[in-house]
Amino acid sequence: MDSSNRSHGARAPALGFTSDNIAGASPEVIEAIAASSAGQASPYGGDDLTARVERKLSEIFEREVDVFLVPTGTAANSLCLSAMTPPWGNIYCHPASHINNDECGAPVWYTNGAKLVGVEGQSAKIDPASLHSAARVKVGDVHSTQPSCASITQATEEGGVYTLAEIEALGEVCKASSIKLHMDGSRFANALVSLDCSPAEMTWKAGVDALSFGATKNGVFAAEAIVLFDASLAPEMGYRRKRAGHLFSKMRFLSAQIDAYLTDDLWLRNARQANDAAQRLTRGLAGLSGVEVLGATEANIVFCRLPSAMIESLHQAGFEFYHDRWGPNVVRFVTSFSTTVEDVDNLLTHVTRAAVTHRSGN
Ligand SMILES: *Cc1c(COP(=O)(O)O)cnc(C)c1O
Repeated sequence: MDSSNRSHGARAPALGFTSDNIAGASPEVIEAIAASSAGQASPYGGDDLTARVERKLSEIFEREVDVFLVPTGTAANSLCLSAMTPPWGNIYCHPASHINNDECGAPVWYTNGAKLVGVEGQSAKIDPASLHSAARVKVGDVHSTQPSCASITQATEEGGVYTLAEIEALGEVCKASSIKLHMDGSRFANALVSLDCSPAEMTWKAGVDALSFGATKNGVFAAEAIVLFDASLAPEMGYRRKRAGHLFSKMRFLSAQIDAYLTDDLWLRNARQANDAAQRLTRGLAGLSGVEVLGATEANIVFCRLPSAMIESLHQAGFEFYHDRWGPNVVRFVTSFSTTVEDVDNLLTHVTRAAVTHRSGN
């Protein structure tokens, strides 16, 4: 096998569209990890790289923030929530949320038993009026769990993006209800470039108290930042992170990733690449026979309905994606920072071919 071809030649189009965590990491991030390995550094976050990340995030958010790096989004979400609610609290979230469905009960465990309360809304977004009503049920009743915080996902699990007005409306409800607001920003950068606003506007200016600033899905190896806008949550977070086993002794390796991610706008460039790939895919799918694009493509997730035969034929061609989880024949394609124009066009070529077959009645 000619390995030089493999490393330098054009790669075959990628066939995976299941999620954005099937991508590797950006070369800049891997190089930064290697570079950070040289020499000695103070442990547990006392190093220069960690201080630099804290400074950079304060600049990006245009105010002092408290930063705690952790290796997974589940840890970031659960630690944030644990600082925002007592064990008898209600955490309001959309039924489709990651904290509700995909974290194996970690938020309940980390909070020592707080209750996740589903609040409905379109496109996996919490409806402010419904939150307002939910946060008024049995307040002060010793027999009931009490309103504590709400958690929203930006971008959402269904690929939507809360507008600034929508976040502000939820921020208002939270303030009026004396509860805190958490944002699961696993796809924070994808949402940010989609809205074309500032990180401050999308968070604390709209009423967000704590953010899980995701990076893993958008180009780092394993690092997420808990960013606290409510300084009162900070003192206990250090203890909570350590107690949960997420205080890295060699913190520099996490910090090196986030530092590289925030350097020269890598995080924004990566997110644009992912979002542009999704837009290209949506444009290509629209109008194809048998294909029904579902909802607007606002970040890097595309939903559509495809005939069963087409799904089968794409699978046979080697494409990987989830389907029928959100409804019959509903397909989800997720693009990432590593998805190229060629990857998208290759998928579209196959869908088009299958659409022609479909139209000719086979
Ligand atoms: C991926 C993801 C996370 C984090 O998941 P981990 O596997 O714990 O890193 C959190 N929220 C959402 C919405 C996600 O998609």
